[in-house]
Amino acid sequence: MAVPFRRTSKTRRDKRRTHYKLAVPGMVKCPQCGEYKLAHRVCKSCGTYKGKEIVNK
Ligand SMILES: [Zn+2]
Repeated sequence: MAVPFRRTSKTRRDKRRTHYKLAVPGMVKCPQCGEYKLAHRVCKSCGTYKGKEIVNK
């Protein structure tokens, strides 16, 4: 098995990790209540989608 010839420097390691990001699923503000909700889904807090389509609580 191949083994690293040189130790990876802190700079090189950290540069590689600049591509690591927090994967926050598409959160958008609900136009109805201003609450954060998942995009393309019915709002959890007010139960609306595209202005209407009310989900009865
Ligand atoms: Zn809402």
